[in-house]
Amino acid sequence: TTLQAPPLGPLLDDIVLRHRPERESGSIPGNIPLLADVPFNRFGIAVATTSGEVFSAGDATTPFSIQSISKVFTLAMALRGDSTGSLWSRVLREPSGTPFNSLVQLEVEHGIPRNPFINAGALVVTDHLMDKAPDAAARLLRFLTAQAASSGPAIDEAAAAGELANSSRNLALAHFLKNFGNLHHSAEAVVENYVRQCSIMMTCADLAKAGLFLARAGQGSLGPVLSPSDAKRVGSIMLTCGMYDAAGEFAYRVGLPGKSGVGGGILVIVPGECAICVWSPRLDAKGNSLAGTAALADLSDLTGWSVF
Ligand code: GLN
Repeated sequence: TTLQAPPLGPLLDDIVLRHRPERESGSIPGNIPLLADVPFNRFGIAVATTSGEVFSAGDATTPFSIQSISKVFTLAMALRGDSTGSLWSRVLREPSGTPFNSLVQLEVEHGIPRNPFINAGALVVTDHLMDKAPDAAARLLRFLTAQAASSGPAIDEAAAAGELANSSRNLALAHFLKNFGNLHHSAEAVVENYVRQCSIMMTCADLAKAGLFLARAGQGSLGPVLSPSDAKRVGSIMLTCGMYDAAGEFAYRVGLPGKSGVGGGILVIVPGECAICVWSPRLDAKGNSLAGTAALADLSDLTGWSVF
């Protein structure tokens, strides 16, 4: 895939013009009160290229709640320190076909989550990181700050407190994992770290820069983050599981590995080419950004960027 005319700057401006929502539609997450305050017409997009350039348009420098996009980075951090592959005995790599916060498969599959991007799997990843040091969320924040080469990323403690007060479901998942012997730390401590990692605020531009190592075969801004094999594997899990029960639809429309969050962000990888982050807060029925997905479908058609 190569860049095609028109040049990327004007192309992104055009994407903003066409996809910034003009009226309220879609939904907001029910379990995070502060996210309801974000205006519906926010829309930003940024592209960080493997040649070191960053293009952006719209609200690309407005921080938003990264939510489940954090799961890509915690997975990378966990794989990095896991030479024996112990994480993969605790979580599978299959698409779930169920909502991100579903409890159903966890009972049927004896406490082994389907993949690291549904909430159950992400709780296991966070628990795994806590084996090294209890403050996994703070470690993630340092990782993101370093990869984005920006002091911007910060934990929104008010949003985290609001979500923590509405965490019955995630606590239920954590207790289930614990019951099956697949959680090393207390359910409460793991959910608290998980909610704080989800509450990190970042801009599209910083997220695109932070995700660039996945487009560069694991090479981060300060040296290798992952081996080329593990970078490939994280991309594969993004393609098959990154959008939960809309992974197939997203692959059909966009043709690229992506990871969404209920804050309305989507991080997408074009291997060898760039990392893209789009943000618009209103969600479809599966919890993925409505305008963000439409914009990425458009962008991949216009540029020819796809893994296919
Ligand atoms: N913190 C959110 C939750 O656990 C993250 C979900 C998401 O972004 N899909 O419900």
